[in-house]
Amino acid sequence: MSGAACPSCRRPMRPLALAAHYGRQVEVDLCADCHMLWFDGHESVNLAGRGILELLRAIEASHGKAHQPLTGQMACPRCEARLQRSANLTALGPTAHHECPRGHGAAQSFSLYLAEKGFVRPLYRPEVEQLRTRPDQRQQFVCLNCGGRLDPRDREACSYCASPVKVIDVLPLMRAVDRQTGQLAPGPATTAASAHRVVACLHCGASTDPARDRRCEACAMPITLTDLKQALAWIEPLVPAIESGQVTPEHRRRRLAEAADGAPKGLPPDRPAQGFRLPGWVYLAVVVLMLGLPALAVLLVRHYR
Ligand SMILES: [Zn+2]
Ligand SMILES: [Zn+2]
Ligand SMILES: [Zn+2]
Ligand SMILES: [Zn+2]
Repeated sequence: MSGAACPSCRRPMRPLALAAHYGRQVEVDLCADCHMLWFDGHESVNLAGRGILELLRAIEASHGKAHQPLTGQMACPRCEARLQRSANLTALGPTAHHECPRGHGAAQSFSLYLAEKGFVRPLYRPEVEQLRTRPDQRQQFVCLNCGGRLDPRDREACSYCASPVKVIDVLPLMRAVDRQTGQLAPGPATTAASAHRVVACLHCGASTDPARDRRCEACAMPITLTDLKQALAWIEPLVPAIESGQVTPEHRRRRLAEAADGAPKGLPPDRPAQGFRLPGWVYLAVVVLMLGLPALAVLLVRHYR
């Protein structure tokens, strides 16, 4: 179905056919005026590789449009029912969307989508401190939801759309795009493919390689990509290399070593912990086993004595 009505402004949204897992396509609808996405069912969880990049490209292209204030009563594009706000706590922090009570799908602002997928992070305190003294660097900041200019000294929110101030987190984005092959994990192939794709450190101007480092080697500040256009210009040239590439034993070894290393050291604590959640029944099963096995042992001992 195409041309669904935007949950907020009710004008037709733009349907995007995006690549999903297992070679499937899913359709996501986008309203460029409201900076809003509509996912039928659970489409957002199924996007893969190029599909993610295409969605980010469409989000970025909508950044030129002035933000339309959202209505307080969003309606389902499929059945007109009033959408209900639903907040979730994910491994990457709190996130929210507006769900159809009849299960047709969910609406999400650009910024909440980016946050839910872990593609953005808040500015670390040392970065905000540093930016206080540098008006030229502050001018590079745009809102990742509406594209409006931002002042990163204001950690709270965009003055146009009230989205929180965030910057792109390159490594999780690379991993999501490259879930199948793992080629985009930091390693020799990535470094070769991105040899000419260095990013100037926002803080000191030195050349940095987001595929390899999380911090600038010159000034030790985190590598900061401030807008989607910049992040896409950096990541898109790597895609052919991923799609043609094979996962080599060397890659696998490096990725395992990297996983064992864990998070980069010395980052301020406001970085949300990366991780995954097991289904609830696993915890329940463990508790039942822990309580049940000793009881069983006691019963057996009594029985045979
Ligand atoms: Zn709209
Ligand atoms: Zn509905
Ligand atoms: Zn904004
Ligand atoms: Zn630097």
